[in-house]
Amino acid sequence: MSEQTFLIKPLLDGHYPTAKYGKGIYIYDDTNKQYIDGSSGAVTASIGHAVPEIIEAMIKQAQKISFVYRSQFTTEEAERLAEKLSRMEFIKAGDYSSFFVNSGSEATETAMKIAIQYWQEQGKPTKNKVISRWTSYHGITIGSLSLSGHSERRRRFVSLLDDLPTISAPYCYRCPFHATYPSCQLQCGSELESAIQRIGAEHIAAFIAEPIIGAAGAVIVPPEGYYKYIKEICEKHSILFIADEVMTGIGRTGKMLAMEHWGVRPDIITLGKGMSAGYTPIAATLVSEKVLAPIRQGSKMIMSGHTYSANPQSAAVSLAVLEYIEQHQLVAKAEENGQYLLNELQKMAQQIPIIGDVRGKGLLVGVEFVANYFSKFPFRKDLDLTNSVVALARDKGLLIYPASAGIEGGDGDAVIISPPLTINKQEIDQLIKIFKETLLDIQNGVMVDDSY
Ligand code: PMP
Repeated sequence: MSEQTFLIKPLLDGHYPTAKYGKGIYIYDDTNKQYIDGSSGAVTASIGHAVPEIIEAMIKQAQKISFVYRSQFTTEEAERLAEKLSRMEFIKAGDYSSFFVNSGSEATETAMKIAIQYWQEQGKPTKNKVISRWTSYHGITIGSLSLSGHSERRRRFVSLLDDLPTISAPYCYRCPFHATYPSCQLQCGSELESAIQRIGAEHIAAFIAEPIIGAAGAVIVPPEGYYKYIKEICEKHSILFIADEVMTGIGRTGKMLAMEHWGVRPDIITLGKGMSAGYTPIAATLVSEKVLAPIRQGSKMIMSGHTYSANPQSAAVSLAVLEYIEQHQLVAKAEENGQYLLNELQKMAQQIPIIGDVRGKGLLVGVEFVANYFSKFPFRKDLDLTNSVVALARDKGLLIYPASAGIEGGDGDAVIISPPLTINKQEIDQLIKIFKETLLDIQNGVMVDDSY
C-alpha cells in the first residue's frame, strides 16, 4: 500500500498492516504474515474469524431484507435476540428486557438516560446524575466519556464533560487506601457511601461500574464482597446500579455475565463487543422490570434510540453468535482455558521482573508492568512502554491490547490478553511463547532502574 492514504487512522503517521483475511484465532496481512488475535481485536472477536455458521446467518438475513426502522417495524430477529438474552439464566431471574444500540458507548448513554427517566417518571427529577469510578472506561461519546475516569481520553474535552466520576477503584495491587484485603474492610466500597452523602442521594440517579475494569485498569478484579456491599449502599440510598458489561459480557470471563461471579444483580446492564463477536456492530442496554415498570406506566417510551437500533442484520448475527457460543460451550471453555492462561502467565512472570502483576478472570487477563518489582514504581511515561510492547509483539505475530495499569485516572503501563473464547491450550502456549520473547527483548532494552 502507498504511504499516503485517505483513511484517518488512530495514529495519523502510524504503521498499520493491512488485514487481508482471518481464520479462527489468526489474522493474516497482505504479505500473508500470520498474527495470533491475542486480544480479539478490542476484546471483541470472541468466536474467532470466518466462522461458517455466522457467515451463513449473515447471507440468509441479507437476502431477506436490508433494513427496517424500529418505529415502523419489529422483526423476528430482533424479537428472538431479545428473548434469547432474557432467557439467559442470570438475566431471566432479573426479568430484563433489551434496548438495542450499535456500540458500547451508545449502550452507556442509553443506560444513563433510562436511569434518569426512571426517577422522572416517579416525580423525582432532581435525581439526574450518574456517578462512577476514577479508573474506568464507559465509552467515547460525551455522556459516556463524562462517566469515564481516564484522564488522557478526557483532557482535551473537559469543557464538554460533566465532572462525574467520584470514587476509587477496588485496585488491590495498588490499594488507594494503602490497606490490605480483608482487613481493609472494603474502604473502596465505603467511599461510595461518602460520595453519596457529599453529593446528596436526591441528586443521584445511578452508579455505574465495569464488573472488572478493562481498558482503564487492565483487568482489575474486585475483592470478594465488593459488589454485594456496593449494591447494598445503592439500595440504601435509592440509587440504581448499572453494570457495564460491554467488555466482560457474553462469556468473556468464564460466566455469561461477569456479575454472576458475585451473584449481584444490577438494575441495568450494558452489553456490546462479544454480542456479535465483531461480525456486525450491535450493543444492548438490558433494563430490569423494576426500572421499566414506571416508564411503561408513565411516558410509555424510552427517550433515546438510533437509526440502526435493532437493525435486522445485526440482530440475526448476534443471535447466531449466541447460538454458536451455546453449542460449543464456549463459556465453560473460557473458564477452563482462562485459568490455564492465567496460571501460565503467572509462572512466566516469575522470570520477568518488569511484570508487576498478572490478574484476570476467564479469558480476560491483564499484565501490569513496573520499573521496579518491589516498589511497584511505574515506568516513566516518555518511555511509552505499553506501545513498545504492543508494537514488538505485533512484529513477532501476536496482537495484544494496550491498556492503562489502573493508577487513578488511567496511568501506568499494562496490556490486556483476551484471545477468542475458541482458543485451545496449544494455541495459548504459542501465544505465551511470543509474549515471553517480546518481554525479554523489551526488558533487555529498558533500564530496570533500581533507584526508584
Ligand atoms: N464500556 C466498556 C467497559 C468498554 O470496554 C468499552 C469499549 N472498550 C465501551 C464501554 C465503549 O464501547 P464502544 O467502543 O463500542 O463504544
